[in-house]
Amino acid sequence: SDHDIEYPLSPLHMDWTENYGDFANGRLVEFADIGCGYGGLLMRLSPMFPDTLMIGMEIRVKVSDYVNEKIQALRKHHEKEGHYRNIAVLRTNAMKYLPNYFNKGQLSKMFFLFPDPHFKNKKHKWRIITRSLLSEYAYVLREGGLIYTITDVKDLHDWMVLHLTDHPLFVRLTDEELKADPVVGMLYESTEEGQKVTRNDGEKWPAVFRRLPNPPL
Ligand code: SAM
Repeated sequence: SDHDIEYPLSPLHMDWTENYGDFANGRLVEFADIGCGYGGLLMRLSPMFPDTLMIGMEIRVKVSDYVNEKIQALRKHHEKEGHYRNIAVLRTNAMKYLPNYFNKGQLSKMFFLFPDPHFKNKKHKWRIITRSLLSEYAYVLREGGLIYTITDVKDLHDWMVLHLTDHPLFVRLTDEELKADPVVGMLYESTEEGQKVTRNDGEKWPAVFRRLPNPPL
């Protein structure tokens, strides 16, 4: 349950130095890993984009505590080089109040890696990609920003592709564009869930979408 989560009134009320220390000064969070789980993606992306602030959003307290402890340990271990100062985790419900955390057009990448499938029809409204949530994601994403998805559940993949394709503010990347993006290769194995799927010989379906410019009024 998430009744105990406090949300910032607006992005201005968010003090990101609590998450990144001085490294937050003069920087804005640009990548959001939604339902980051144990944070494997953040830890892999951190050295690839050392100047970019990235946040993992995770609703389970124990899991987000674990990720935070791991990040603190990594920072300590690499104190001299100053590595891993650009990643942090927030315990929050990412399906609620995203615009309270991020300004319009602030994010350049959002990740949805192996989201919970919610198999039953009645529960589809709990899926992390729905028509109304996509409009919120479009709001916090800048033009040209990217939504990365991957899942081992074919039905969920079809669902995400259908809704993203239907949405007027997103267009799917072609296979050639996927190959040209070094981040795409990290979707498969960087997270704990991705590694579990590999161990179980599961298939994986990625799909990436670009945020289009707003149409003229
Ligand atoms: N992305 C991670 C990975 O690939 O290993 C975790 C995948 S796991 C199947 C889905 C995660 O999403 C869980 O850790 C769950 O707690 C989290 N989650 C589900 N709904 C959420 C929400 N509304 N806000 C934040 N996290 C959520």
